[in-house]
Amino acid sequence: MTSPARQRCLRLRERLSSYIDGDLSPSERRLVAAHLRRCPCCRTMADGLRHTVDLCHKAGTASLPADVKRRARARITSLLAEEASATPARAAAGPRRKTKAAR
Ligand SMILES: [Zn+2]
Repeated sequence: MTSPARQRCLRLRERLSSYIDGDLSPSERRLVAAHLRRCPCCRTMADGLRHTVDLCHKAGTASLPADVKRRARARITSLLAEEASATPARAAAGPRRKTKAAR
């Protein structure tokens, strides 16, 4: 039910935080960077994540405990999975309303 393009976006988004943290291999980095140039939805998400990371650094919490990072990543991944099963291929339409289940 999920389009191949959407699948690509979801797989990429799982790696966004590693990309922003500089934890990907050079070839993976190139793939993510190329996708971000083409895909406004993922670019918006990457910008948001980068902004959040910046805010954390500025707030003096640059070194989050490893378990907090791990839980945040797991939560993001599960939210993306929920989103993928709940919304049929509409990501290509635009980056609007991305936090529907945020409460
Ligand atoms: Zn994408």
